[in-house]
Amino acid sequence: MDDPSLGQKLTLDDLVPEGGLVEICRSFRDLFGVEVRVVPRGQTIEQPRLPPRAAYRTAEVSYDGEVLGTLVLGPYMPSDSVVSLSLTGDAGPPPLPRMKDPTAERLLRHLASVLDVVLWSGHRAFLASRMQISSSQELHRELVAKNRALTESLERVKELDRLKSNFLGTVSHELRTPLTSILGYAEMLAEGLAGALNEEQIEFVGTIREKGQHLLSLISSVLDLSKLDAEAALVDVSEVDVGALCEGVVTAAMAGWQKRGLDVKVAIGQGVPKVRTDLERLRKVVSNLLDNAIKFTPTGGTVQVAVGVKTPPPEMQSPVGLALLAPADQLVEIAVADTGIGIAQENQPRVFDAFYQVDGSSTRQYGGTGLGLSIVKRLIESLGGRVSVSSTLGTGSTFRVELPVEPGSE
Ligand code: ADP
Repeated sequence: MDDPSLGQKLTLDDLVPEGGLVEICRSFRDLFGVEVRVVPRGQTIEQPRLPPRAAYRTAEVSYDGEVLGTLVLGPYMPSDSVVSLSLTGDAGPPPLPRMKDPTAERLLRHLASVLDVVLWSGHRAFLASRMQISSSQELHRELVAKNRALTESLERVKELDRLKSNFLGTVSHELRTPLTSILGYAEMLAEGLAGALNEEQIEFVGTIREKGQHLLSLISSVLDLSKLDAEAALVDVSEVDVGALCEGVVTAAMAGWQKRGLDVKVAIGQGVPKVRTDLERLRKVVSNLLDNAIKFTPTGGTVQVAVGVKTPPPEMQSPVGLALLAPADQLVEIAVADTGIGIAQENQPRVFDAFYQVDGSSTRQYGGTGLGLSIVKRLIESLGGRVSVSSTLGTGSTFRVELPVEPGSE
């Protein structure tokens, strides 16, 4: 065992619990009427003034060949009579017990063998506890080492993540500029600014514009994500009327949903409080969810954006009906429900992953980048809220966002 304390010399304290020896000596004295003490190695005892013939007997207390102390019996008055407490003295110090030397010797041996047994069992307990301590220390050392390794890995991962975000941010930025100009030229071609195009050319230019737009929105999403990583802590908080925000987002998208022949409504519940949050981030969340609902709902379908307040459950209210929780503990919920294609149960947990699309094939029917929901998740989490989905394949989906009324109150 590499515990250095195990290499140290044993002491009586290691083997017998504190007070244990005193108790043994006291019961011995009560039994035989003569003082008994165990003096630990290296300690001395004060000698009282004694009558001339008073005597002591001593024996070594040792364990495993090592002297741990001295067993002292006495003082007593050697006499030819049997052991006597001699309690008939007058005034002055109590008389010493009288006993024959061989009797004193026998008592000493007897006590020494009792001590042997006590020390033996004490040693076993001592070893067991030392082993336990040393194995806990070993465990603790291992945990500390693992913890350090984990912290280092976490730091490395964070650094890599930061580098990745920087890289993505820079690359996306550099790609966006030439792409915008490609799109600009395609537009000019389509409008005939460089001369009239034949049908096939119009079709080709149309494809350039369509694919270019897709690439641009992908780049913008990647930029959004990398900006989010870099600016996670930079939340611009103000009082936000969530109902008005949702109405604004639905109105702004009107051209899109009317073209698709959809019915989109906003329902604002009673008593929805204003929320202290980042207006732009929340707008982006609602707008991404609405874009998806519109995109994945066939013509004639409906989309509803419902805003409500979630109060604490009844068990958290006092008997007189007053909420024990402050309004700050309330949540505002935005539910975007559609009657669209729905998401199978097994795919639902993955839709918030970056670049995940239920239909990931090259022939998929719906456009998109697979980044919208991962941006929603990160944004809403940066505001202290959460997002979830419930959906039935072929029937529709509901995305729910819960937001604390006060930042950090959840
Ligand atoms: P995308 O750009 O593809 O819309 P998102 O991250 O926004 O990327 O969504 C990921 C995937 O989740 C989508 O490709 C789609 O398969 C599924 N999804 C998201 N919203 C809906 C919805 N309202 N109805 C059905 N499927 C949805």
